[in-house]
Amino acid sequence: GVHLLNSLPDAPKIRVIVRKRPLNKKELEKCETDVLECDSLAACLYVNEPKTKVDLTKYIERHTFRFDDVFDENVDNTQLYNQAVQPLVGTIFRGGKGTCFAYGQTGSGKTYTMSPLPLRAAADMFAIMQQETFANVSLHVSCYEIYGGKVYDLLNGRKKLEVREDGRKRVQVVGLREVGVGSLEVLQQLCDHAAAARSTGSTGANDESSRSHSILCFALRTNNEPPKIIGKLSFIDLAGSERGADTYDNDKQTRLEGAEINKSLLALKECIRALDADARHIPFRGSKLTEVLRDSFVGKNARTVMIANVSPNSGSCEHTLNTLRYADRVK
Ligand code: ADP
Ligand code: MG
Repeated sequence: GVHLLNSLPDAPKIRVIVRKRPLNKKELEKCETDVLECDSLAACLYVNEPKTKVDLTKYIERHTFRFDDVFDENVDNTQLYNQAVQPLVGTIFRGGKGTCFAYGQTGSGKTYTMSPLPLRAAADMFAIMQQETFANVSLHVSCYEIYGGKVYDLLNGRKKLEVREDGRKRVQVVGLREVGVGSLEVLQQLCDHAAAARSTGSTGANDESSRSHSILCFALRTNNEPPKIIGKLSFIDLAGSERGADTYDNDKQTRLEGAEINKSLLALKECIRALDADARHIPFRGSKLTEVLRDSFVGKNARTVMIANVSPNSGSCEHTLNTLRYADRVK
């Protein structure tokens, strides 16, 4: 415990990484090409976009992006956790706030990337909590979803919750259920419960979960009365970035949801940029997502990790470029 905490470096204020998933079976069967080239050492990603001129000659346009880290398809969840996320555990024991986002189009690997992270982080947190210094500290978790600009409690039967700002400008999700976790087994059960409670309507491309932001939040608290928050660590599996373009869909409901997603992803980008620039005004009120995250964002001890997930197949090229441009603007 002592050793682990001391060995965790202070995370940078904002860290932007890219993760490429492998071509899947279906894409391989269709002989789709892999348009992504990763140079992990240089933290560079190249997109070899196939293009056709008016006279039908084919050529490749090569786009270059550089991030804090570029993870190729051979990097597993353990490596990703150790390199990108574990430093946030150090952050919260030092009294800070850590926030980790997964951004990307549906099917790019956001949930694959995010789902094991809370358990790994909790394992490290429990190890550190063995230390005498933290004998009086306990871990709590809450899970909720933002769908169509509304908040639903994933640990309490999808109860719809209101968001309110108190007199001290602190935003609260009123009545959000928070559960104390003393073991990884209990946490696993809670995560399974929350995953099952996520909005899932139809399947496939219209999977409703791609239209919602899912948030898991750890709070590290003293056991005194009143309890004092030491640190907060949040994991956010964002709505599919392509959903923000659903604003032209024929279906009115889909269009409204698309507009809401577009608004929240833009607001998120603006907030992270403002934070990075130490701007006086941070546009939190731009969306429900940024409003509820306000508390985790502000202060000099706030640390953010943005994971941009990308699909390698040429059919996803346009969405991939959009994702990389978004991540590039955040960094
Ligand atoms: P998203 O949440 O962005 O819609 P998923 O996480 O559900 O995407 O991933 C889509 C599919 O790709 C899933 O079947 C998942 O298991 C697989 N997948 C995603 N990333 C990886 C990876 N890095 N390695 C292996 N399979 C992956
Ligand atoms: Mg998902």
